[in-house]
Amino acid sequence: MAILDFIFPRICHVCGVTLSPQERGYVCTPCLAGLPRTLYHRQKGNPMEMRFAGLFPFERATGHFFYSSGSEVSQLIQDFKYRHFRGLARFMGETAGRELLSTGFFSDIDVIVPIPMHFLKKARRGYNQTEEIATGLYNAIGIPVELSLRARRSHVSQTSLSTRERKENLRDIFALRQHHSLDNKHVLLLDDVCTTGATLAEAAETFHRSCTGTRISMLTLGVTF
Ligand SMILES: [Zn+2]
Repeated sequence: MAILDFIFPRICHVCGVTLSPQERGYVCTPCLAGLPRTLYHRQKGNPMEMRFAGLFPFERATGHFFYSSGSEVSQLIQDFKYRHFRGLARFMGETAGRELLSTGFFSDIDVIVPIPMHFLKKARRGYNQTEEIATGLYNAIGIPVELSLRARRSHVSQTSLSTRERKENLRDIFALRQHHSLDNKHVLLLDDVCTTGATLAEAAETFHRSCTGTRISMLTLGVTF
C-alpha cells in the first residue's frame, strides 16, 4: 500500500467504501459496473443525435452515461466539477474511452476538441474539467487533444433559461484560436454533460463558420434523458 493511501485512504466516490489497491481509480468495481450506460453509440438517430438533427451537419453523437440530477453519475460530475477532484474527470474520460474503443465510435476521428471555459473561470477553478476528461480519453484511445476553441466570455448558468434564451446566451461565445485551422479534419467535440445540446451546437457552428470541410462528431460523459 502506498504511504499516501495509508494516510488518506482512497474511497469510492459513489458508495464511500475504501478502495482496494487493485482498484486504481476513484470508483469501486461494483459501483462503476452499475453506472447506467446509454449505449447510444449503437443507435443511429439516438435521442442525443435527435437534439441536433436539422441544426447543422454532423457524423454521430453519444453521451456515455445517463445523467439526471441527484443520480450517481451527477454526484461524480459534481465531485470533479466543484470539489476539485480533477483526477476523477480523467478517470471517467478514460473509462468512457476504453469502453467505446472497440465499437468504431472513434474511427476516422482526427482530433479531440474539448469545450473551453473562459480563462477567468478556469483560473478560479484551477482547471477545466472537460480538458481533464479529454486527457483521460487520450490515455485510453491515443487520439490527440487540441485546445482549438476559446471562450470569448463567461456565460451565465444555463439552467434557468428557456431554449431561446440559452441560444442567445451562447451566441458567438466560442472562437477558433489562430493557427488552429481544422480544415477537412474530423473533430470530436467533447463536453461533460449534454442537456439541451445548445453548447455543443454553438461549438459545432463555430467550426462550420471558420473552417472548410470539417466534419463534427460529439461525445459527452453524461446525457440527460
Ligand atoms: Zn462504490
